[in-house]
Amino acid sequence: MRVAVTGGGGFLGSHLCEALLRRGDAVVCLDNLSTGQSENIAHLREYPEFEFIHADVSVTAEVPGAVDAVAHLASPASPPDYLRLPLQTLAVGSRGTENALELARRNQARFLLASTSEVYGDPLVHPQEEEYWGNVNPVGPRSVYDEAKRYAEAVSLAYRRSHGVDVGIIRIFNTYGPRMRPHDGRVVSSFITQALGGEPLTIYGDGKQTRSFCYVSDLIRGLMAMLDSSETGPINLGNPDEWTVSELAQLVLEITGSDSEIQYHPLPTDDPVRRRPVIARAQEHLGWSPEVPVADGVHRTVEWFRSQPHDNGQPATVAAPTL
Ligand code: NAD
Ligand code: UDP
Repeated sequence: MRVAVTGGGGFLGSHLCEALLRRGDAVVCLDNLSTGQSENIAHLREYPEFEFIHADVSVTAEVPGAVDAVAHLASPASPPDYLRLPLQTLAVGSRGTENALELARRNQARFLLASTSEVYGDPLVHPQEEEYWGNVNPVGPRSVYDEAKRYAEAVSLAYRRSHGVDVGIIRIFNTYGPRMRPHDGRVVSSFITQALGGEPLTIYGDGKQTRSFCYVSDLIRGLMAMLDSSETGPINLGNPDEWTVSELAQLVLEITGSDSEIQYHPLPTDDPVRRRPVIARAQEHLGWSPEVPVADGVHRTVEWFRSQPHDNGQPATVAAPTL
């Protein structure tokens, strides 16, 4: 297959590009590197079947030649990123998704949408199955991400109904692993960076809120299974192992051996209280289940952060390789 991956320079996108290349597919990565990093994909230049197009897909998602599939991952994903880039987040969820859908329509290609557990908002139903319609504040600060993704799901299904595009929607729950930016503000990368740097771990609120953490290799296996299937979804992908934020902080302290203190900060507006996926659909329709226990995944992620040229958690001033 020749697969166009929007957001392929990001955390998940770069792992998806790599997995596709490894199995022999050709990959065209489209990214504006707004929250991605050229380091994530520099090593992929070794593959002759890898192409990079520097593009804002909210403006254009043109790819010369035929493609068999479009995986649309472009979007800020970390809360501090989408709160810092509210209009860009709305644009890429709406116009960016439309442009990526047009690319799929013109090529009669499979279209994979990377949606999110945030479409459930601060859920009133627990755990979350795909039938749940969600509890999203349409005017709160998180709405720029949540509503953009809800629109992305709606327009994808409209393209399926109106133009017959072979659409598949995945709702990704919190995923972590190597290639997260050390200061992207998400909880796993933040705690690891803080613990390794001897800085206090910043818990927002009382730390009793929960998330369910999926290791990146498991998630990518699920995305590939969805890409290769003809399922429409939506299908949840995530690890149902649910942790409080305080438990995660303790785990990171144990694994790193750090004696960092815990520091409490105000809870961000509309921060969801509980989140855990029901994954029966993924198990039944994709034959997918997560395999990496959270402690193992955090251990691997800590080792990766340790191997990076950071100075006390601050990114080293190394020149980014040019593509
Ligand atoms: P990321 O920020 O590391 O990657 C997003 C990539 O999209 C970056 O490389 C960024 O530069 C690119 N991008 C953003 N706007 C763009 C635009 N207008 N044009 C071209 N490129 C653009 O985030 P991630 O964690 O890798 O997330 C990837 C996708 O998965 C996102 O769509 C996100 O909403 C979704 N998702 C991720 C998680 C998670 O836990 N990681 C959870 C739910 C959903
Ligand atoms: N969180 C925290 N400290 C941090 C970063 C995040 O306590 O330094 C909390 C955050 O308030 C949320 C949870 O960890 O309750 C997960 O946050 P993240 O930004 O990783 O993902 P999301 O909120 O999108 O699930």
